[in-house]
Amino acid sequence: MLDIIREKVANAERISDEEGLFLLSEAELLDLAPLAQEWRWRHNPEPIVTFVVDTNLNYTNVCNAYCGFCAFYRPSADDPSAYTLSVEQILQKIERASGQGVTTVLMQGGLNDDLDMDYYVELVRQTRERFPHITPHYFSAPEIMEMTKVSGKSIAEVISVLREAGQRTMPGGGSEILADGVKAQVSKLWPKAAVSDWTDVHREAHRQGWMTTATMMYGHVERDEDIVESLRHIREVQDDAADQPGGFTAFIPWSFKKQNTALAPKVADEAGANRYVRMIALARIFLDNVPHIQGSWFSDFRRPGQVSLHFGADDFGGTLFDETVMLEAGHYNRTTVDEVKTLISDAGFAPAQRTTEYEIVERYEMEPSTAEVIAAGSVEA
Ligand code: SF4
Repeated sequence: MLDIIREKVANAERISDEEGLFLLSEAELLDLAPLAQEWRWRHNPEPIVTFVVDTNLNYTNVCNAYCGFCAFYRPSADDPSAYTLSVEQILQKIERASGQGVTTVLMQGGLNDDLDMDYYVELVRQTRERFPHITPHYFSAPEIMEMTKVSGKSIAEVISVLREAGQRTMPGGGSEILADGVKAQVSKLWPKAAVSDWTDVHREAHRQGWMTTATMMYGHVERDEDIVESLRHIREVQDDAADQPGGFTAFIPWSFKKQNTALAPKVADEAGANRYVRMIALARIFLDNVPHIQGSWFSDFRRPGQVSLHFGADDFGGTLFDETVMLEAGHYNRTTVDEVKTLISDAGFAPAQRTTEYEIVERYEMEPSTAEVIAAGSVEA
């Protein structure tokens, strides 16, 4: 099986579900690296690793979906720790982020029936008007579905209204694992949890020219077959985008963090670093039509993030100032632009800052690696 896959990768051919499952379940981890890197260099021939200076804001934690993997939501606005920010409060946060050099604001929130369509539109419109240098990378497929519910509009109409307000990109949240059997277990009370909702929203976004990302949150109740199915759905949506103005820019996996979640008793151990690196490599080999694979200092911490850059990832994600969703699940993690650049350099690549849509903003020289500094005698080992 490995020889067949090697030949396919050498010929830039698509691998099958069965071959994907073999790479996930049976192949030696180190056998994946050269295959993933072959696709990496094919898509991204420059020895750079990109990153974006961004922040993660959340406009409300009130949510009617009750996902079992989520430690962030509050089921009622009456909960003492529930909040919903006004448009002005959000804009103040963006102003602060702008002062930190942020160029992308990734914003998502709970599915809150008290918010109407005007609220979402104003968030986009006012961000564009007051901070034209910042990209509103807002909402996700479940939130778009929530907007269809509160407004009575179709998916196409909701996206069109947000587009008129200035939105052009959307994150891939809400996919978790794109397999209906898994969704039924982890998002039981979310009536719109079907795979087709997520894929329909992204297909329509691509039709209207949005660039979106595809994500995966793994390491809970899914089987290996479900992971392969999830990747297949993403590959099919991207195939359909080939003749559309939009499409997926990147695939971004991260692992489930169980603290404070309802799903915790069902998950013995979190997935860990080896699984993370394997997921990155599998994605790079399987998603032959997605231009970028995002590794991260964030999902499984710094070292696995650096290793992922040698297993197919060509992007290191964002700085994620103000991230709180994973924080609520006990995953404390903060970084700086300088640290991100150093981590990329130390992994053997030149850092390059990018936009939300993966255009290069600034290239940096590789910093001397820690090993070189020690070898040069300027730091004691
Ligand atoms: S993951 Fe999103 S949709 Fe699910 S409960 Fe949390 S906030 Fe709500």
